[in-house]
Amino acid sequence: TIVLGIETSCDETSASVVKDGKIVMSNVIYSQINIHKEFGGVVPEIASRNHIEAIGNVVEESLIKAGVTLDDIDVVAATYGPGLVGALLVGLSYGKALAYGKGIPFVGVNHIEGHISANYLDSDFEPPFICLIASGGHSHIVFVKDYGRYEVLGRTMDDAAGEAFDKVARALGLGYPGGPKIDEISKSGDPYRYSFPKSFMEKDNFDFSFSGLKTAVINQLHKERQNGIEVNVADYAASFQMNVVDVFSSKLIEAAKFKNIKKISIAGGVASNSLLRERLKRLADEEGFVIHFPKQVYCTDNGAMIASAGYFDFIRGKVSGLDLNAVPYLKLF
Ligand code: ATP
Ligand code: MG
Ligand code: FE
Repeated sequence: TIVLGIETSCDETSASVVKDGKIVMSNVIYSQINIHKEFGGVVPEIASRNHIEAIGNVVEESLIKAGVTLDDIDVVAATYGPGLVGALLVGLSYGKALAYGKGIPFVGVNHIEGHISANYLDSDFEPPFICLIASGGHSHIVFVKDYGRYEVLGRTMDDAAGEAFDKVARALGLGYPGGPKIDEISKSGDPYRYSFPKSFMEKDNFDFSFSGLKTAVINQLHKERQNGIEVNVADYAASFQMNVVDVFSSKLIEAAKFKNIKKISIAGGVASNSLLRERLKRLADEEGFVIHFPKQVYCTDNGAMIASAGYFDFIRGKVSGLDLNAVPYLKLF
């Protein structure tokens, strides 16, 4: 079964052709980062317009790169939420129209389920496992019981991790998006220089909070700047990153022990973080857990993860109506 997956929930216009939910035949990503960079974040209206301009070419290129035509596509899948409503509508409408025009099934995909499904791409990794999802707008620890069957064990009470990375990076003058910049500069910083607060660290609590951490970093920065102290950006970045990695890695491991599941994985943009990967690899080895990391290109937004989620929905009998609307605040379930 060949699925065309379309993703336009935020600032990436992406289309991908994936076979049987696992074999990526093409994955075309047109990122608008350079357009939004000058505003320090994604401007929804500009994102929608750019999706409209890009979507036709992105889909066509995904077919060409996969060496197929629309006639070879069995199912069209597109993200219908959560995300920016104007952005979502572009990919969703395009996907529905293609499916209608070709007379093939259409499947609306939950973007967060897409991030989790990135774990199945180019891989034999399969449920059950415990997954940390850390993206620009979401932070969850989820028990993936089976394809499409989830139990949320913990979630953020305020900011998502990616949002915290982006805001701290902005305060440090590192630019947008902040995650990759903090990841890079932290390599030359001292992670023990500052110790910022950690929330909800009591046993068997898998929730997070990052707004206190973000505020603590920003307050400390202001204090040093006011006192004329030369700020060491790398030390700040490294200390902040280490705090997030400490919290995520210990909670993910604890959640796996709590559920007695020996397989763990990560998903979402923050899952590209190199310290997080390094730490989890070491802890998983110590515990004798199997750990899976999706390739970095599958961690940030892409059509391949949407095609995979759409495939596993489809083979379990889920098909969406062509009246499916975008749902900006769609929950995981
Ligand atoms: P959501 O999926 O919640 O709707 P989104 O789609 O905008 O949000 P993603 O594309 O999954 O988010 O991830 C983008 C986020 O990942 C940004 O906040 C970015 O700073 C962060 N990020 C990317 N690379 C890294 C990295 N190496 N380290 C930490 N964070 C990173
Ligand atoms: Mg993005
Ligand atoms: Fe995302």
